[in-house]
Amino acid sequence: IITFREVTKKFGDVTVLERLNLEVAPNENLTLIGPSGSGKSTILRILMTLENVQAGAVTVDGEALWVDHGPDKLSEQAAAAQTRAIRRKVGMVFQSFNLFPHMSALRNIAEAPIRVLRLSKDEAYDRAIELLNLVGLADKQNSFPIQLSGGQQQRVAIARALAMRPKILLFDEVTSALDPETVGEVLSVIRALAREHQFTTLMVTHHMGLAREISDRVCFLEGGRIIEQGSPAQIFESPANNRTKAFLRAIL
Ligand code: ATP
Ligand code: MG
Repeated sequence: IITFREVTKKFGDVTVLERLNLEVAPNENLTLIGPSGSGKSTILRILMTLENVQAGAVTVDGEALWVDHGPDKLSEQAAAAQTRAIRRKVGMVFQSFNLFPHMSALRNIAEAPIRVLRLSKDEAYDRAIELLNLVGLADKQNSFPIQLSGGQQQRVAIARALAMRPKILLFDEVTSALDPETVGEVLSVIRALAREHQFTTLMVTHHMGLAREISDRVCFLEGGRIIEQGSPAQIFESPANNRTKAFLRAIL
């Protein structure tokens, strides 16, 4: 459902991804691990169409991400249409929850379905209530972000991503800005989602326990390349590569 083929991404002179190849199967739960600066967030941002790439090809559920091929580049209109198509398929949850501060929890969730999917207000609010139930916040419908704990805000952010019915969910260190007491409530929501296998998930996390538990596959990245990948058991219990071993030794 996701393919990166020989993808190179640079920021100025700095090469952040180098001829990266990665395929993710429908409903697969994939975790990316690796040192700071290895390109994990960049991969997610590319899938969210927040970054372009310099070379190679990226496809998301059959839609090609626009790549600047010089003279035959797509018209701006076609590129914009593709970007919209991809954004509808992909939902992302960030480290900083990024909720709209002036909207209630319910409205945060219903806003994009109303504006982008053109759902009626009734339908969008019904869906939002269901999703708040799912993340255990049925009683917080009318609370504003500032009235919620970090863990509660992050659960609203997850519900907001789900409201668009994405095929692919991206999680970028969604627990690292949380107090230790509220990490657990967010992890259990992610665990439940991953277990249902209704989505393809791509997750960046420092919680190796979570990665081990829910991932079908773990990729270790360093310097914009996949150094090693395999099942959680392979990667965590018997990594083959010395770099992977050193990384895991340092964090576990
Ligand atoms: P972390 O674990 O710290 O979040 P990461 O693996 O997510 O790291 P990325 O955020 O993907 O790393 O960044 C990869 C490299 O790209 C880093 O060296 C970073 O400094 C650089 N980079 C990322 N975004 C930009 C940008 N907008 N402009 C310039 N350089 C950038
Ligand atoms: Mg990152």
